[in-house]
Amino acid sequence: MGDHVITLNAGSSSIKFALFDADGGEWPKMVATGQVEGIGVSPEFEVKRSVDKQKTKRSFSGDDAPKNHAEALEIIIGWLNESFPNVHIGAIGHRVVHGGPVYTEPVRIDPGVLAHLEAFSPLAPLHQPHNLAGIAAAGKAFPGIPQVACFDTAFHRTQPFVNDTFGIPLEFYEQGVRRYGFHGLSYEYITERLRKRDPQAVSRAVVLHLGNGASMCAIKDGQAVSSTMSFSPLDGLPMGTRCGQIDAAVLFYLIQQKGMSVEQVSDLLYKKSGLKGMSGISSDMRDLEASEKLPARQAIDYFVTRIRRELGALMAVTGGVESIVFTGGIGANSQLVRERVLDGFAWAGIVIDSGANARRGEEVISAIGSAVRVYVMQTDEEAMIARHTIAAARLSTSRFQKA
Ligand code: AMP
Repeated sequence: MGDHVITLNAGSSSIKFALFDADGGEWPKMVATGQVEGIGVSPEFEVKRSVDKQKTKRSFSGDDAPKNHAEALEIIIGWLNESFPNVHIGAIGHRVVHGGPVYTEPVRIDPGVLAHLEAFSPLAPLHQPHNLAGIAAAGKAFPGIPQVACFDTAFHRTQPFVNDTFGIPLEFYEQGVRRYGFHGLSYEYITERLRKRDPQAVSRAVVLHLGNGASMCAIKDGQAVSSTMSFSPLDGLPMGTRCGQIDAAVLFYLIQQKGMSVEQVSDLLYKKSGLKGMSGISSDMRDLEASEKLPARQAIDYFVTRIRRELGALMAVTGGVESIVFTGGIGANSQLVRERVLDGFAWAGIVIDSGANARRGEEVISAIGSAVRVYVMQTDEEAMIARHTIAAARLSTSRFQKA
C-alpha cells in the first residue's frame, strides 16, 4: 500500500482526524475520518471508513478514558493500526488557526517554526494552544515523521494594507494587531474548485462560508483581498454562538458600567451570542428554521441582514463579481438562507433560479441570463490540509515519490 497522511484538527476538548491516501490523484483520497470528543470530560470516539461507510463508536468509563490530547491520539492511532495494518504514514498535517503575519503558506514544523507558533498563542488564546497540544502529541506518537502546519490565516495574507489594518496608530499594526481573516483553508479549497471549473470565475468572486462559524471572503484574480473576520474569528457575521461585528464601546460599557469581568464578556460574546443568544433556542440553523417563535425569526433576519450588508461591501471591494459561492453547513444546505441573502440583488446582476436553489446537489443556482453565476459547493478543509501536507513533506523528504 502507498503512503498515507493523517490530518489533525485539535480543539479544546476534541481531536478530529482523517486518513488520506497520498496517491489519490489531484486530490488525496479520504480513507477514514473521525474524532475523539469530550476529552477530559466524557470522551467519545467515533470513526467512519470511507470504503463501506462503516461507523464505529466507543465511549469510555473509568481508567481507559483519554484525559488529554496525547491519550486521545493514542486511541486514534490504535484504531488506525488495527483497521489499516499495512498503511504507512508518510506525514501528518495539522490545522493551525494562526500563522500570524509571518506564514503565507503551509510550513514543515521544526523547532524554529514551533517557537513562532507558540508566540502567536496570545493572538488566538482559545484555539492556538490546543493546536499546539495536537502537534506535541503527534510528534511523540510519530517521531521523525514530517509534520506540517496549515493555517486558517495564510490564504488572507495577500490582502492589501487597507483591508488588513484597523484605524488605530500604525505601531499596533506592526505589533500584529491586524485583520488576519480565518477559514482560509476553506476559501483556498473553494477557489481551487472554482478555478478548475472556470478560470474566469475566480477573477472577481465572493465566497460565503456559512457554518457554525461564518465568514465571507472577497477574491480577486484568485487571491483573497478582504474578509469579514478580522483580528479574531469573532468579527464580522453573527454565528452559531459568536456575536460577529460589535461596537467596541459595548465592551467598555459592559465592563465599566455593568461590572462584568473580561472573562464574562468573552464568554458572552464567544459562547452565548449569535444565533443561540439572540433566539434563546439554539445555535443550529435547522432548529431556528423549524421554529415559529419570534426570537428565532429575528435571529435569522439578523443573520441574513448582516450577510447582505457584507455582500454589498465585498462586491464594492472587488468592483463587481463574476461568481458568488455558498459553502459551509448553512451555505451548502439552507435553501431559505441562500434565497433570502440574494433576494432583490438583481440590480447587481444576481438572479437566482428558485427551482435550482431548491434541488439538493445542484451546483449552479443562478438563473440563465444572470450576469453573476451563483454556486453551491461543499468545502473540504481536510482535503486541502492533506494536499498541502503531501506537497510540503515531498519538498523535504524522499517519501511520497511514486515508483
Ligand atoms: P458547519 O459548521 O459548517 O458544520 O455548519 C453547521 C451549521 O449548518 C448548523 O447551524 C446547521 O444547522 C447548519 N445546517 C446543516 N444542515 C442544514 C440544513 N439542511 N438546513 C439548514 N441549516 C443546516
